[in-house]
Amino acid sequence: LMQLSVPLNFIGFIYREIRQGLTDIEQMFALLDVKQEVVDQPQARPLAVSHGAVEFRDVHFSYDPARPILKGVSFEVPAGKTIAIVGPSGAGKSTISRLLFRFYDIQSGSVLIDGQDIRDVTQESLRAAIGMVPQDTVLFNDTIAYNIRYGRTDASDEEVKKAAELAQIGAFIDRLPDGYKAMVGERGLKLSGGEKQRVAIARTILKAPPILMLDEATSALDTHTEQEIQAALDLVSRGRTTIVIAHRLSTVIGADEIIVLKDGRIAERGTHLALLRKEGLYASMWARQREASEAEERLRIARESD
Ligand code: ATP
Repeated sequence: LMQLSVPLNFIGFIYREIRQGLTDIEQMFALLDVKQEVVDQPQARPLAVSHGAVEFRDVHFSYDPARPILKGVSFEVPAGKTIAIVGPSGAGKSTISRLLFRFYDIQSGSVLIDGQDIRDVTQESLRAAIGMVPQDTVLFNDTIAYNIRYGRTDASDEEVKKAAELAQIGAFIDRLPDGYKAMVGERGLKLSGGEKQRVAIARTILKAPPILMLDEATSALDTHTEQEIQAALDLVSRGRTTIVIAHRLSTVIGADEIIVLKDGRIAERGTHLALLRKEGLYASMWARQREASEAEERLRIARESD
């Protein structure tokens, strides 16, 4: 029995270490099977965030040398502002979020936060400065309170509750028979995509990072859910430098700048109105999206009147 219990303890230890070491974002990338190829430089310093300005300067990147993904991408997100990245599938939008976290090193150019090249800082301090609301949040098989508190493990019950309310999931939790003690995840209550995203927003509210990276769900949400999520996102991004991989019109309308990525290059950039006036790629993307959502709406009304 002794012989068996040692390795079991050891596995338990490793498991706890891994679980503690994971941040919400790392979970996601771990699931995407990202290799750990990036290492801290021997002289790496902690990132010193003064305002939280982000800059991509002529970034060239490929996962595989034969196939360039980003071909000279430059943009700035001034402190506290929001930029939305849009573009066709495969354009390289999620790649930009992976590079900001430095899950890969770029081939040339630089990624800077408050003027510091992210290759010169420790990965731990870099990832601590960025909050991520992924498309599909992974929930632990634990209570909903545990899942929210994950954003900052020393948060009090009161703070967890407040974050849930701000993230527009508080009323939903209050209606559960076990409230904040309700078990969620694979072996508990299954949450919808929109509910999971609000749990991720609540986590991020607790973490209170200076920089925020949002990856909107591509799946259609009903109008009410979309409005609730939008309200929660507006709140969490207020005063924070925010980069959104945007799929919804409601998000891009409010962005300070929209970047239209196509084949690894910035094809168009500007505000929503300026881009609509341009009648280019962006304008046609939204015309298509509007037609699709109007068709859906007509279908819904037809179904309701049946
Ligand atoms: P979507 O809107 O569909 O999510 P995207 O614009 O976010 O697309 P990315 O995920 O950034 O696109 O991918 C850009 C390109 O890089 C795609 O062609 C994809 O196949 C490729 N790619 C993504 N991840 C890897 C990887 N780990 N290894 C090799 N190629 C990859």
